[in-house]
Amino acid sequence: MPNPKYVFVTGGVTSSLGKGIISASLAKLLQARGLSTTIQKFDPYINVDPGTLNPYEHGECYVTEDGAETDLDLGHYERFLNVKTSQANNVTTGRIYQSVIEKERRGDFLGKTVQVIPHITNEIKERMQLLGKTKNHDVVITEIGGTVGDIESLPYIEAVRQLRWELGRENCVVIHLTLLPFLSAAKELKTKPTQHSVKTLMESGINADVLVCRTEHNLSDDLREKLALFCNVEREAVIQSIDAETIYDVPLMMYEEGLDRVVMKRLKITEEIKPDLTNWRSFLQKHKNPKSSVTIGLIGKYVELQDSYKSILESFVHAGAANEVEVNVVPIHSSEIELKDVQEDIAKLDGVLVAPGFGERGMEGKINAITYVRENNIPFFGICLGMQMAVIEYARNVLHISDANSVEMDVDTPNPVISLMEEQKDVVQKGGTMRLGAWKCAIEKGTLLEKLYGSNLIDERHRHRYEFNDAYYDQFKTNGLIASGVNPETKLVEAIELPSHRWFVGVQYHPEYSSTVANPHPLFVGFVKACNLFAQSKK
Ligand code: GLN
Repeated sequence: MPNPKYVFVTGGVTSSLGKGIISASLAKLLQARGLSTTIQKFDPYINVDPGTLNPYEHGECYVTEDGAETDLDLGHYERFLNVKTSQANNVTTGRIYQSVIEKERRGDFLGKTVQVIPHITNEIKERMQLLGKTKNHDVVITEIGGTVGDIESLPYIEAVRQLRWELGRENCVVIHLTLLPFLSAAKELKTKPTQHSVKTLMESGINADVLVCRTEHNLSDDLREKLALFCNVEREAVIQSIDAETIYDVPLMMYEEGLDRVVMKRLKITEEIKPDLTNWRSFLQKHKNPKSSVTIGLIGKYVELQDSYKSILESFVHAGAANEVEVNVVPIHSSEIELKDVQEDIAKLDGVLVAPGFGERGMEGKINAITYVRENNIPFFGICLGMQMAVIEYARNVLHISDANSVEMDVDTPNPVISLMEEQKDVVQKGGTMRLGAWKCAIEKGTLLEKLYGSNLIDERHRHRYEFNDAYYDQFKTNGLIASGVNPETKLVEAIELPSHRWFVGVQYHPEYSSTVANPHPLFVGFVKACNLFAQSKK
């Protein structure tokens, strides 16, 4: 197609309706029809990126290959599409303002008064079209964070209105995602909040083209007619999005509802290629019909929040399907296990994953848990901080360096087995300054890692400041813990393993960011397989 087509997804009534999943599902369907599609997210908060946000505030921080710290929705986009996203796929108000203010300081505006309209909206419009213009996509889907009516999302809505006018209606379509609450006393789905939300959008000059309605109950024909009439959309453009058993059902549900067809019709995309969803369906088939099940403990300090470890949980779904195993993930709060005997919690598990994280809280709990799984030959997987904890545990209990620690937890530790990376020593600013994005890792011959990857050179994404301290490596190696992956240039230890153990792997990088439905991550696949074998052996 000569010019990219644009789809904008806005949200109404409440937050957390799943705009990211709807956007990713639509993208999946368009991709399955042979259209090159990308998704980007515009977030109305003032942080320049979510890298400095606490997971309690905003869920997991997702990291792209080019080292951007982004909103977790980008993870959904990659998992659904199996296409890499980049810095340009996530833009925040903070970044927009930063760029406009830099231009103002440079004198780019030639003495003009710099204002929200046109300067901020122009910057938004430029960024909305960046991927479409530079990457030759057929369709660019833009998800606007927040809820219509919020003060902070107004410049985005205005930018969409202007773009639609500039590019023409056949090149821009607006999907509005809303909630139809069910009143149990009246046994009725209510359309009024949706009508109001559509009206709010209209006050900003935008008539939604498509309504996607989140609901717990099926929409009757009458209700669809009513929504179409009062929300000013065509009858076929009222799309039901009923609660799904898994997010991976949503593309198929949207296909049944005809979301992709309505969008294509509006955008005058005439290619009549039927979507090829064979692989997607076969993944779902395996996911829903497991032959056995395993229980894996996820130890971290934000476990009470589903979104904090989103990519890890989804990686388990992919790896579970690949193994035809149901993975039950049991969240274990690291501060809780610090206070009591871990044995009881962990003895029942088929495997343990210690999650990434920052700071001291819950550290001793993680270490106690690792001692138990190491000594009892229970499969263990440590990611980033989880790997660093495994190193400290080994130093303390096997190398008998009882005061071994990470400099992150104790700056003056006499035995810093985990130390600050050289390039981090002069870093003062917190935002965007960690070692981020994809780095090469050379895998040692004859290791478990080599067997799992089937390769000796890999690329994995990072997000950390501290590293394995090489000065201690010989002691570890003589005592049975080996570095199975290192950065080929800096020699920084990227992965460790215990060859004497059933499955004991720690990685400094984040495999969870690159697991997708089409390509489940080999380490998660291997870990789930090991947990399953261990579970079978106990029967
Ligand atoms: N806090 C550790 C570091 O900065 C680990 C980071 C992480 O787990 N992402 O090195």
